[in-house]
Amino acid sequence: MHEGVFFFSNGWKILSSRYTPIMNIFEKIVNREISATIVYEDEDTLAFMDIGPIVKGHTLVIPKTCYDPVTETPDEVLTKLILLAKRIAAAQMKGLGADGVNIIQNNGAAAGQEVPHLHIHVIPRFEGDGHHWNWNAKSYDSTDEMEQLAERIRGGLTE
Ligand code: AMP
Repeated sequence: MHEGVFFFSNGWKILSSRYTPIMNIFEKIVNREISATIVYEDEDTLAFMDIGPIVKGHTLVIPKTCYDPVTETPDEVLTKLILLAKRIAAAQMKGLGADGVNIIQNNGAAAGQEVPHLHIHVIPRFEGDGHHWNWNAKSYDSTDEMEQLAERIRGGLTE
C-alpha cells in the first residue's frame, strides 16, 4: 500500500489516497505472489520457465523492474538482459543438449506481445522437434520500394 497525491490526465487529483499498485503477471512472479519455476535470479534479472513452451525448455528472461517496450528500456538494462539470454541459451545447449536456440523479443500487440513487461524468449531447438515458424517471406515490388523503406528507417534513426 502507498500514500500520496495522484494526478489524472484530466486534471483531477486525489490526496493521501491509499492504493495497491496493479502489477503485471511477471511482476507478481518477481514478488513471489504467483509461483514460477525459476532458472536463475540475481539482483536485477530473473529467468524462469515459460508456462506455455513453444518447445519444452522455453525460458523467459526479464528485468525485475518493469520496462516496456524495448525502445523505452535503458541500455544498461538491455545489456544485462541479452547477456543473461546468452547464458541461458548456452545452458540449454549444454544442459538440454539443444542443437540450436531461438531468441525472440516481442513488442506490441501487433507483434504478438501479451505481457506488457519486457521479456526475451529463449527457446531451445532440437533437430526434428516439429516446431516450424510461420516465416512467410514476401518480396518487394521493386528495388525502389525497398530503397524508399530503407530511407524512411534511416530517417528514423536517432544518435
Ligand atoms: P509474449 O507473447 O511475448 O508477451 O509472451 C508472453 C509469454 O509469457 C508467453 O509465452 C506465455 O506462455 C508466458 N506466460 C504467461 N504467463 C506466464 C506464467 N504465469 N508463467 C510463465 N510464463 C507465462
